Amino acid sequence: MKFIISLGLLPAALLISIGSFLYARHTGGNLEMAILISSLGALGLAMLLERYMPHHAPWNAPRGDRLTDWLSFGLLAGVVQPLLKWLSPLAVIALYGWIEPGAGWFAAPLPFLVQVLLVTLLAELGKYWVHRWHHTQTALWWLHALHHGSERLYSINNFRVHPLEYALKHSLSMLPLMLLGVPADVLLGYIALTQPVQMLQHVNLPLRHGWLNYVFSTNELHRWHHSTRPEEGNSNYGSALMVWDLVFGTFHYPRGNTGPASIGLFAASKYPARRPYWAQVLSMFGPACCKA
Ligand SMILES: [Zn+2]
Ligand SMILES: [Zn+2]
Repeated sequence: MKFIISLGLLPAALLISIGSFLYARHTGGNLEMAILISSLGALGLAMLLERYMPHHAPWNAPRGDRLTDWLSFGLLAGVVQPLLKWLSPLAVIALYGWIEPGAGWFAAPLPFLVQVLLVTLLAELGKYWVHRWHHTQTALWWLHALHHGSERLYSINNFRVHPLEYALKHSLSMLPLMLLGVPADVLLGYIALTQPVQMLQHVNLPLRHGWLNYVFSTNELHRWHHSTRPEEGNSNYGSALMVWDLVFGTFHYPRGNTGPASIGLFAASKYPARRPYWAQVLSMFGPACCKA
């Protein structure tokens, strides 16, 4: 049974997410609800399975990080994401004033699934570079260090992201697409395709993805991204896809090795990862910020 789960969890989550999205689109159902239900289903199942078959059992034990992780989850899901959803159309309207409106730029005559794939590649390109800059620019690294401060990997780490970083990534990947006139159902199709990957990206499960590691940013690959060694951690930047890591030479996948020796910040980092959540969020604006 564990063997089947290891091989099948991500493919099953992808099939259910894409299948329920296409069904809802075909029947005039609520697309966002279809995505939300399949995403929460994948996350909830992964959280249960982490108890039953962890990749690394010690990662199931809190290390004084549980409050930080859940506060971050609550803030992103309850405040930041709804705010961005409300503000994004306003930002697009405001930007229309000084750039050419994008209606017609996007290749609308293409079949729906091709449009979704095209948008996925473009959005992932934006997210790839935003993530990579967070590793190369010192001030941005300080913003991103909240995510890398965790010394274990488990399902909720996916939501341990600084609100400003979340907003930056959203703006630089989604706003250009909205300005290009990409229809809402195509954008939602992109989310239906990529959300299951992200829900499972940090899970503490011994998943085996084989050739899918060359397509999706799986937990097998993302584990290396959280290594305490810079030569391993400055790799695998892809949000949901690995295509841009393969193109730009940052793909890291040592075959036969299940992960780095340790997880967390690079040794040289002065980021206050053990301080309370709000102290970490606000440290961006304090005198300690951005040293390394
Ligand atoms: Zn990173
Ligand atoms: Zn991560």
